[in-house]
Amino acid sequence: MAGTFYRVQCADCENEQVVFGKASTTVSCAVCGTTLARPTGGNASIEHEIVETVESR
Ligand SMILES: [Zn+2]
Repeated sequence: MAGTFYRVQCADCENEQVVFGKASTTVSCAVCGTTLARPTGGNASIEHEIVETVESR
């Protein structure tokens, strides 16, 4: 039960980045710095397109 990761594509620069589904801090795009996900106390709120869900074991 390590959690779920999402591959998220930045809407601004099309960079793909893996985001932890329960991120506890704001996740910014590594290329352009826009916010990709915000912590909500539970599952992170993903604000961009999820390309792929990556289950971890
Ligand atoms: Zn970006």
